[in-house]
Amino acid sequence: MPAIDFKVKDSDGTSRTGELVTPHGVIKTPAFMPVATQASVKSLDSLDIINTNSQIILANTYHLALRPGTDTVEHLGGLHNFMKWKGPILTDSGGYQVFSLSKLAKISDMGIKFKSHIDGTTLVLTPEEAVRFQESLGADIIMTLDQPSSPNQSREFILQASQRTYEWAIRSLGSKTRKDQALFGIIQGGHENDLRYESVSNITSLNFDGYATGGLSLGEERKAVYDIASYTATLLPYDKPRYLMGVGTPIDIIQAVFMGYDLFDCALPTRVARHGGIYYGNSRYNIKNQLYSRKDQSLEIGCECYTCKNFSIGYINHLFRSKELLGYRLASIHNLSYYQKLMNTLQSNISLGTLNQFIKEFLD
Ligand SMILES: [Zn+2]
Repeated sequence: MPAIDFKVKDSDGTSRTGELVTPHGVIKTPAFMPVATQASVKSLDSLDIINTNSQIILANTYHLALRPGTDTVEHLGGLHNFMKWKGPILTDSGGYQVFSLSKLAKISDMGIKFKSHIDGTTLVLTPEEAVRFQESLGADIIMTLDQPSSPNQSREFILQASQRTYEWAIRSLGSKTRKDQALFGIIQGGHENDLRYESVSNITSLNFDGYATGGLSLGEERKAVYDIASYTATLLPYDKPRYLMGVGTPIDIIQAVFMGYDLFDCALPTRVARHGGIYYGNSRYNIKNQLYSRKDQSLEIGCECYTCKNFSIGYINHLFRSKELLGYRLASIHNLSYYQKLMNTLQSNISLGTLNQFIKEFLD
């Protein structure tokens, strides 16, 4: 029995809704996963996360392997018990840190050798170790180790990274021992269709539980991201969950749902919140502006989130101007609730067959 079960329910053009059954609960897709890199969605505890209507969260293997160590998390009952989150969890493998911490990473066919960004010690992440670490953490969905490449790198480099990602995918599958975790393969191949095609053919031949499109949103133009993400989605199996990694803004997510992706993650809503950015409608404003100091309404009119039901713009403006920690928490709850409300709206528009019309109105 596979660890997860995925069924497409409704579809509208290439977009679809679905149900993803995991050992820790059912996820209605398309779904957005708040980022809990260090086993914490910054400033929120699990009750706060539940209050945002989030269904699944994402943690990071590289960061948790360095601190506190995956064996420590395992000793404390695994990630679910460690952070007291009862719902589904996905852990990223650490491949992305090749890119984000490139000065500290050395890559060879064996794996990735990191110099810790905390204390300079060495962490070796091979495909086998990445699986072992993620088996210790105990997430519902784990990811293969991959080597992302950016559009600025040569075709030769991108091809090599993509082939290495394939070799690593084979090794990841071979080293998996737990039956209660799903393993997703990652598609690479940069910004050229033929390389993406080859990567999809290779990775999908290995029959993973789901597939992720990686190596996008690394600072390139939006149009390039959309073109490749959309092309890749057309090649992915219909009956498996499709995860577009690290995307993105509300508009990016809407476009990607339109293309037929099911899962998303991004640190943006909570990072924007900590800088005072508040999402509303199809835009956002900055709560720190003096303009809001005497406003008695909620952050977004009509929003039913914990923050909007209980606190005024004026109070949250004061918290931000006084650098009170509560401000970061309340703004993060609202922004994540905004993202989850958007996902619900996308789901119902797909079910009603009105996604095109919704996107047109949102963009206008
Ligand atoms: Zn709200």
